[in-house]
Amino acid sequence: MQNYDAVIIGCGPNALVAATYLTKAGWSVGILDRNDRPGGGLRTDELIRPGFKHDVYAGFLILFALSRAYADFAPQLGERGLQMANSDKPAGVALPDGRATLITTNAEANMAEIERLCAGDSAGWGAMLGGIGAVAPQVFELLASDLTSPRAKELMDDLMVGPDGLPTPFAKNFLLTARDVLDANFKGDVWKAFLAPWVLHSGHGPDEANAGFWTAIFGLGLQMAGLPVGVGGAEAQAIALAKLITDQGGVIIPNTTASKILVENGRAVGVVTEDGEEYRAHRAVLATVNPDQLYGKLLADVPGIPAELTQQAQAFRYGGSVFFVHLALSEPPQWVDERLNAVTYTHVCDGLDGVAKNYLETNANLLPSDPVVGVGVPSLLDPSRAPEGAAVMALQQLCCPYQVKADARGEINVGDGTWSDDLKERYADRVIDTVAKSIPNLKSSILGRYILTPADLEKRNLNWTKGDWASGSHAISQSFTLRPIPGQKGHRTPIDGLFQIGAATHPGLGLAGASGLIVSQMLLNEG
Ligand SMILES: Cc1cc2nc3c(=O)[nH]c(=O)nc-3n(C[C@H](O)[C@H](O)[C@H](O)COP(=O)(O)OP(=O)(O)OC[C@H]3O[C@@H](n4cnc5c(N)ncnc54)[C@H](O)[C@@H]3O)c2cc1C
Repeated sequence: MQNYDAVIIGCGPNALVAATYLTKAGWSVGILDRNDRPGGGLRTDELIRPGFKHDVYAGFLILFALSRAYADFAPQLGERGLQMANSDKPAGVALPDGRATLITTNAEANMAEIERLCAGDSAGWGAMLGGIGAVAPQVFELLASDLTSPRAKELMDDLMVGPDGLPTPFAKNFLLTARDVLDANFKGDVWKAFLAPWVLHSGHGPDEANAGFWTAIFGLGLQMAGLPVGVGGAEAQAIALAKLITDQGGVIIPNTTASKILVENGRAVGVVTEDGEEYRAHRAVLATVNPDQLYGKLLADVPGIPAELTQQAQAFRYGGSVFFVHLALSEPPQWVDERLNAVTYTHVCDGLDGVAKNYLETNANLLPSDPVVGVGVPSLLDPSRAPEGAAVMALQQLCCPYQVKADARGEINVGDGTWSDDLKERYADRVIDTVAKSIPNLKSSILGRYILTPADLEKRNLNWTKGDWASGSHAISQSFTLRPIPGQKGHRTPIDGLFQIGAATHPGLGLAGASGLIVSQMLLNEG
């Protein structure tokens, strides 16, 4: 038996952030993870050839770069190897007809490009960013707050209701779809095509309520902060946090799966692992798990849990998955539009309607006919990722079914609908063919590929159920005060001393570690 002040289940970004604050305050902390090393979604490996380093899952550290945890610990993390590389040309889009555009971190240059694409549209960009920019401090504070706190209530009130008692402009826009927002602000379809696929990165479809809010957030974030990558790999974030935690006395225990949370007299007092080991927690247990695992497995034997919570946890909804093709390339990509050669992340898609079609096909469990693909080239910013003159590329098909009913194009035989080797190779061919139309040298430069299907993701991380990389649907009906489940008070479970963190809780997916921050601050403020 081992004893700690806090035991944390799972060692992803949220657990790492929570443990950083708790160990800094002198708490003894033990973190258990089923995987062989810390990081969860942060993992960098030479998947294909020596010298080619791929971010196996998450690759872009923007949310961590903007987080309070990074602001608080940047020097200590830098000393432990965390460096980020950024570009002034973070993102672009390439359409099948050869049209393309990109965003820079220079506001004036963006205005000029949008105006060049369609006269008059720069005013729409100004209006969209002005609207979200005016409330950005409150919005970002809420995205890192316990929504059950009085401060959060005050912020939500101010955001939603004006001094005259009427809905604010923010409230009027909050539930708009991405299509509503794009159509209201832009006439030209290329800038719409640039913005539309970003909602897939927040787990939304373009015609979903509240997706317009995320469209504006992405536009603002890309222009303000770019799209930084970790030097040496995204895992640098996890390595530096893990070193800081152990330097502060914390203990990370890999290859260890929690199977049960120990509850005595209504209070969480520890964790039992699959091997029967007991890790005692004198002050708190934090669980980076989804509600179905929490209530359906880890707390299954605990008496007195309200049936309503268990039912809500069972009904936790999963969203679309991701199909990922990593490529080792003999040379960097040469795009049809040469401006994209310098861009870190470019979507290949057929405009707003192309994104909507991909989303609908996925919802109907069809293999997307014309997949929207995000093309990331981190070696552009970080030469240590590939041998000299070569490149690594990540092709992210961000919206794809877990169980496939049929091919929307009617070409691929999907067999029994599971991700067989044949299905995965043939769909990877489609993804590569789609991108190759915009990158003529792509196919000739491929040295090797490594594919991750929704089924692979589910096996790699207990929180990516049904291959859902976002740990649960981020539809508005399962977000903010409704996340993880409406019957639970934010991150506090009905068991004293037991807290839920991770992407299944507010504020959802991403590397910022915000739920870890929220819960660590609750614990430290409460003493
Ligand atoms: C392909 C892909 C690309 C992505 N790209 C980005 C990106 O570029 N930028 C970004 O910000 N986000 C990205 N994300 C999302 C991001 O990776 C996740 O939202 C984030 O990692 C979630 O962090 P977390 O703290 O919830 O824990 P996770 O990273 O999900 O880690 C949870 C850990 O807990 C462990 N665990 C679960 N249950 C148990 C148990 N019972 N016992 C022991 N261990 C357990 C799991 O094995 C896992 O290691 C991406 C995700 C995927 C899949």
